[in-house]
Amino acid sequence: MTLLVICLTPFAAQSQSLSHEEQDYIQANTIFFTYHELGHALIDLLRLPVFGQEEDAADVLGVVLSETINNEDDNEFIMLAAADNFSYMAQTAQQEGYELAFWDLHGLDLQRYYTILCLHYGADPDRRKGIADEQELPEARQQTCPQEYTLAEESWGPILDEAEFRPDAGPWLTLHVVDQPRNEAQQAVLSALSVEVDILNDSLSPAFALDVLFGQCGEANAYYDPDSAQITICAELAELFTE
Ligand SMILES: [Zn+2]
Repeated sequence: MTLLVICLTPFAAQSQSLSHEEQDYIQANTIFFTYHELGHALIDLLRLPVFGQEEDAADVLGVVLSETINNEDDNEFIMLAAADNFSYMAQTAQQEGYELAFWDLHGLDLQRYYTILCLHYGADPDRRKGIADEQELPEARQQTCPQEYTLAEESWGPILDEAEFRPDAGPWLTLHVVDQPRNEAQQAVLSALSVEVDILNDSLSPAFALDVLFGQCGEANAYYDPDSAQITICAELAELFTE
Protein backbone atom coordinates (compact mmCIF):
# COMPACT_ATOMS: atom_id res chain seq x y z
CA MET A 1 0.00 0.00 0.00
CA THR A 2 1.16 3.49 -0.70
CA LEU A 3 0.10 6.35 1.50
CA LEU A 4 -1.28 8.53 -1.21
CA VAL A 5 -1.19 12.24 -0.93
CA ILE A 6 -4.61 13.01 -2.25
CA CYS A 7 -5.11 16.53 -3.46
CA LEU A 8 -8.82 16.77 -3.68
CA THR A 9 -11.51 18.62 -5.49
CA PRO A 10 -13.63 20.57 -4.91
CA PHE A 11 -12.22 21.52 -1.51
CA ALA A 12 -8.58 21.74 -2.56
CA ALA A 13 -9.30 25.05 -4.17
CA GLN A 14 -10.33 26.58 -0.86
CA SER A 15 -7.91 28.94 0.83
CA GLN A 16 -7.50 26.80 3.98
CA SER A 17 -6.07 23.81 2.14
CA LEU A 18 -4.70 21.01 4.23
CA SER A 19 -0.99 20.43 3.98
CA HIS A 20 0.25 17.11 2.64
CA GLU A 21 1.34 16.26 6.21
CA GLU A 22 -2.19 16.89 7.47
CA GLN A 23 -3.63 14.79 4.63
CA ASP A 24 -1.27 11.92 5.49
CA TYR A 25 -2.11 12.17 9.20
CA ILE A 26 -5.84 12.05 8.47
CA GLN A 27 -5.32 9.11 6.13
CA ALA A 28 -3.25 7.12 8.64
CA ASN A 29 -5.71 7.66 11.48
CA THR A 30 -8.70 6.86 9.29
CA ILE A 31 -6.97 3.60 8.42
CA PHE A 32 -6.31 2.72 12.07
CA PHE A 33 -9.90 3.49 13.09
CA THR A 34 -11.12 1.32 10.19
CA TYR A 35 -8.87 -1.56 11.31
CA HIS A 36 -10.11 -1.17 14.89
CA GLU A 37 -13.76 -1.40 13.78
CA LEU A 38 -12.85 -4.36 11.60
CA GLY A 39 -11.55 -6.00 14.77
CA HIS A 40 -15.01 -5.63 16.33
CA ALA A 41 -16.60 -7.02 13.15
CA LEU A 42 -14.30 -10.07 13.10
CA ILE A 43 -14.99 -10.77 16.78
CA ASP A 44 -18.74 -10.58 16.20
CA LEU A 45 -19.11 -12.29 12.83
CA LEU A 46 -16.64 -15.10 13.52
CA ARG A 47 -17.83 -15.46 17.14
CA LEU A 48 -14.27 -15.16 18.36
CA PRO A 49 -13.59 -15.64 22.07
CA VAL A 50 -12.21 -12.52 23.77
CA PHE A 51 -10.52 -13.04 27.12
CA GLY A 52 -10.28 -9.43 28.22
CA GLN A 53 -11.59 -6.10 26.98
CA GLU A 54 -12.88 -6.23 23.41
CA GLU A 55 -11.67 -2.65 22.85
CA ASP A 56 -8.11 -3.76 23.57
CA ALA A 57 -8.49 -6.74 21.23
CA ALA A 58 -9.68 -4.42 18.44
CA ASP A 59 -6.59 -2.19 18.85
CA VAL A 60 -4.39 -5.29 18.82
CA LEU A 61 -6.00 -6.42 15.55
CA GLY A 62 -5.22 -2.97 14.15
CA VAL A 63 -1.52 -3.45 14.83
CA VAL A 64 -1.35 -7.06 13.62
CA LEU A 65 -3.37 -6.31 10.47
CA SER A 66 -1.20 -3.33 9.59
CA GLU A 67 1.92 -5.42 10.18
CA THR A 68 0.47 -8.12 7.91
CA ILE A 69 -0.75 -6.13 4.90
CA ASN A 70 1.32 -2.92 4.80
CA ASN A 71 4.91 -2.32 3.81
CA GLU A 72 7.40 -1.17 6.46
CA ASP A 73 7.14 2.57 5.75
CA ASP A 74 3.37 2.72 5.57
CA ASN A 75 3.00 0.47 8.62
CA GLU A 76 5.32 2.67 10.65
CA PHE A 77 3.54 5.82 9.55
CA ILE A 78 0.10 4.44 10.43
CA MET A 79 1.22 3.15 13.84
CA LEU A 80 2.99 6.38 14.82
CA ALA A 81 0.08 8.54 13.66
CA ALA A 82 -2.46 6.38 15.51
CA ALA A 83 -0.37 6.42 18.67
CA ASP A 84 0.18 10.17 18.34
CA ASN A 85 -3.56 10.75 18.06
CA PHE A 86 -4.17 8.99 21.38
CA SER A 87 -1.32 10.89 22.99
CA TYR A 88 -2.76 14.14 21.69
CA MET A 89 -6.23 13.30 23.01
CA ALA A 90 -4.76 12.51 26.43
CA GLN A 91 -2.84 15.81 26.44
CA THR A 92 -5.89 17.83 25.42
CA ALA A 93 -8.09 16.16 28.03
CA GLN A 94 -5.52 16.98 30.70
CA GLN A 95 -5.19 20.60 29.58
CA GLU A 96 -8.95 21.00 29.62
CA GLY A 97 -9.17 19.51 33.09
CA TYR A 98 -11.18 16.40 32.24
CA GLU A 99 -11.01 13.61 34.78
CA LEU A 100 -9.51 10.37 33.51
CA ALA A 101 -12.32 8.05 32.40
CA PHE A 102 -11.33 4.97 34.39
CA TRP A 103 -14.92 3.73 33.96
CA ASP A 104 -14.76 3.82 30.16
CA LEU A 105 -15.10 0.81 27.92
CA HIS A 106 -11.81 1.79 26.27
CA GLY A 107 -8.40 1.86 27.87
CA LEU A 108 -7.13 5.31 28.77
CA ASP A 109 -5.80 7.19 25.73
CA LEU A 110 -2.22 7.05 27.00
CA GLN A 111 -2.51 3.31 27.62
CA ARG A 112 -3.65 2.89 24.01
CA TYR A 113 -0.69 5.05 22.92
CA TYR A 114 1.82 2.86 24.76
CA THR A 115 0.21 -0.41 23.72
CA ILE A 116 0.23 0.48 20.02
CA LEU A 117 3.87 1.53 20.26
CA CYS A 118 4.80 -1.54 22.30
CA LEU A 119 3.21 -4.00 19.87
CA HIS A 120 4.68 -2.21 16.85
CA TYR A 121 8.11 -2.29 18.46
CA GLY A 122 7.65 -5.88 19.65
CA ALA A 123 6.89 -7.09 16.12
CA ASP A 124 10.43 -6.22 15.01
CA PRO A 125 12.50 -5.09 18.00
CA ASP A 126 15.87 -5.10 16.22
CA ARG A 127 14.70 -2.74 13.53
CA ARG A 128 12.41 -0.57 15.70
CA LYS A 129 14.40 0.02 18.89
CA GLY A 130 15.05 3.61 17.78
CA ILE A 131 11.33 4.30 17.39
CA ALA A 132 10.55 2.88 20.84
CA ASP A 133 13.23 5.09 22.40
CA GLU A 134 12.22 8.19 20.44
CA GLN A 135 8.59 7.75 21.49
CA GLU A 136 9.70 7.31 25.10
CA LEU A 137 8.35 3.82 25.52
CA PRO A 138 9.88 2.97 28.92
CA GLU A 139 12.53 0.24 29.02
CA ALA A 140 10.41 -1.62 31.59
CA ARG A 141 7.61 -1.98 29.01
CA GLN A 142 9.99 -2.55 26.08
CA GLN A 143 11.17 -5.73 27.74
CA THR A 144 7.78 -7.42 27.39
CA CYS A 145 6.83 -6.06 23.95
CA PRO A 146 8.29 -8.90 21.84
CA GLN A 147 6.32 -11.47 23.88
CA GLU A 148 3.24 -9.25 23.75
CA TYR A 149 3.46 -9.10 19.95
CA THR A 150 4.04 -12.85 19.70
CA LEU A 151 0.86 -13.45 21.69
CA ALA A 152 -1.01 -10.90 19.53
CA GLU A 153 0.22 -12.60 16.36
CA GLU A 154 -0.62 -16.06 17.66
CA SER A 155 -4.11 -14.82 18.53
CA TRP A 156 -5.03 -12.82 15.40
CA GLY A 157 -2.64 -14.46 12.92
CA PRO A 158 -4.70 -17.63 12.39
CA ILE A 159 -7.84 -15.49 11.87
CA LEU A 160 -6.07 -13.47 9.20
CA ASP A 161 -4.60 -16.65 7.67
CA GLU A 162 -8.12 -18.03 7.42
CA ALA A 163 -9.12 -14.84 5.58
CA GLU A 164 -6.22 -15.15 3.14
CA PHE A 165 -6.85 -13.31 -0.13
CA ARG A 166 -8.39 -15.35 -2.94
CA PRO A 167 -8.70 -13.55 -6.29
CA ASP A 168 -11.87 -15.48 -7.14
CA ALA A 169 -13.64 -14.47 -3.89
CA GLY A 170 -14.47 -10.93 -4.98
CA PRO A 171 -14.80 -7.84 -2.78
CA TRP A 172 -16.12 -8.34 0.74
CA LEU A 173 -16.21 -4.70 1.83
CA THR A 174 -18.60 -2.23 0.20
CA LEU A 175 -18.35 1.49 0.90
CA HIS A 176 -21.58 3.49 1.11
CA VAL A 177 -21.41 7.28 1.26
CA VAL A 178 -24.49 8.05 3.35
CA ASP A 179 -23.70 11.76 3.71
CA GLN A 180 -21.34 13.86 1.65
CA PRO A 181 -18.24 15.36 3.30
CA ARG A 182 -18.73 18.97 4.38
CA ASN A 183 -15.17 20.23 4.22
CA GLU A 184 -11.72 19.33 2.95
CA ALA A 185 -10.74 17.36 6.08
CA GLN A 186 -13.91 15.25 5.91
CA GLN A 187 -13.21 14.68 2.23
CA ALA A 188 -9.74 13.46 3.22
CA VAL A 189 -11.31 10.94 5.63
CA LEU A 190 -13.62 9.71 2.86
CA SER A 191 -10.81 9.46 0.31
CA ALA A 192 -8.64 7.53 2.78
CA LEU A 193 -11.52 5.20 3.57
CA SER A 194 -12.23 4.62 -0.10
CA VAL A 195 -8.59 3.77 -0.83
CA GLU A 196 -8.35 1.51 2.23
CA VAL A 197 -11.55 -0.40 1.39
CA ASP A 198 -10.01 -1.21 -2.01
CA ILE A 199 -6.75 -2.29 -0.35
CA LEU A 200 -8.56 -4.51 2.15
CA ASN A 201 -10.61 -6.04 -0.67
CA ASP A 202 -7.33 -6.84 -2.43
CA SER A 203 -5.62 -8.14 0.74
CA LEU A 204 -8.13 -10.39 2.50
CA SER A 205 -11.06 -12.65 1.63
CA PRO A 206 -12.91 -13.45 4.86
CA ALA A 207 -16.04 -15.59 4.77
CA PHE A 208 -18.42 -12.66 5.14
CA ALA A 209 -19.36 -9.41 3.49
CA LEU A 210 -19.49 -6.12 5.31
CA ASP A 211 -20.89 -2.67 4.54
CA VAL A 212 -18.77 0.32 5.50
CA LEU A 213 -20.74 3.54 5.89
CA PHE A 214 -19.35 7.06 5.74
CA GLY A 215 -21.70 9.65 7.17
CA GLN A 216 -22.37 12.57 9.48
CA CYS A 217 -22.93 11.15 13.00
CA GLY A 218 -23.01 14.28 15.15
CA GLU A 219 -19.81 13.23 16.91
CA ALA A 220 -16.22 12.29 16.07
CA ASN A 221 -16.44 8.53 16.32
CA ALA A 222 -16.57 5.20 14.51
CA TYR A 223 -18.75 2.19 15.25
CA TYR A 224 -19.38 -1.42 14.44
CA ASP A 225 -23.06 -2.27 14.79
CA PRO A 226 -23.57 -6.01 15.40
CA ASP A 227 -27.32 -5.79 14.60
CA SER A 228 -26.77 -4.56 11.05
CA ALA A 229 -23.20 -5.88 10.74
CA GLN A 230 -22.08 -2.49 9.46
CA ILE A 231 -19.09 -0.32 10.18
CA THR A 232 -19.72 3.42 10.34
CA ILE A 233 -16.87 5.85 9.96
CA CYS A 234 -18.08 9.30 11.00
CA ALA A 235 -17.10 12.27 8.87
CA GLU A 236 -16.56 14.23 12.09
CA LEU A 237 -13.46 12.13 12.84
CA ALA A 238 -11.82 14.71 10.61
CA GLU A 239 -12.09 17.19 13.50
CA LEU A 240 -10.28 14.79 15.83
CA PHE A 241 -7.46 14.33 13.33
CA THR A 242 -6.99 18.04 12.51
CA GLU A 243 -7.22 19.71 15.95
ZN1 LIG B 1 -13.96 -0.04 19.58
